[in-house]
Amino acid sequence: MFGLGGKKLFKYSSINNTLPLDVEDTVTCFCRKARRKEKDAGTTEDPKLYLEEAALERQLPELDLRMLVDLPPGLDYNEWLASHTLSLFDHTNLIYGTISEFCTPTGCPDMTGPGLRTYLWFDEKGKKTRVAAPQYIDYVMTFTQRTVSDETIFPTKYANEFPSSFESIVRKILRLLYHVVAHIYHCHFREVALLGLHAHLNCVFAHLTLLNQRFNLIDTKETEILGDLEAALLGDSSLGSSSSVPTTTIQDPPSATT
Ligand SMILES: [Zn+2]
Repeated sequence: MFGLGGKKLFKYSSINNTLPLDVEDTVTCFCRKARRKEKDAGTTEDPKLYLEEAALERQLPELDLRMLVDLPPGLDYNEWLASHTLSLFDHTNLIYGTISEFCTPTGCPDMTGPGLRTYLWFDEKGKKTRVAAPQYIDYVMTFTQRTVSDETIFPTKYANEFPSSFESIVRKILRLLYHVVAHIYHCHFREVALLGLHAHLNCVFAHLTLLNQRFNLIDTKETEILGDLEAALLGDSSLGSSSSVPTTTIQDPPSATT
């Protein structure tokens, strides 16, 4: 888990008070990774600096946050997905780390989300397993960390290429991170708010949601449980409402990278 270290975590948009933004941290994260990757790869091409120039010195309204997830011309789609996935993983891990002491096997015996949803994990043998939320989230973070650190899946060296299955792997990671975010909203929002991190959480959710809206990476049956939050934060009345969400059990896939 990541420590907070007194770092300023979020900002509020002065333009749209309903959408707190974390753009500066997010873009800084992108650019730091981009610079590290550029250094490692020995290439001068760094399209992600485009975001830094556009966004770092000011706070962005919702429209610009949508533009932040839009694929810049000439940038490789997989490279773009990788950058956003790494950022969302880091930020989700950071937020969960701040409240993880409240997420215990006793307090959270199931991995639950809004709408009475319960997520099941598939063990190594492919058997669906009911696990406590902290165990489930540990599986998610361990799987994601291992995957994004795998040079054959998330290449950082110039000569290496993304695997053909890259998008499907990203889809799985984003779906699992969505489960974590859903659990935090469902069971730990109070602790998050008491820590003053709700704006940061909302921003991570907005980032995840807008990336999904742009590239359609997560099934609707996964995201509908927070459809009302989408509408509240992003103001899109065309999005779903949790009022129609049925009681559902989602079976989570095994930890294989497919
Ligand atoms: Zn919990």
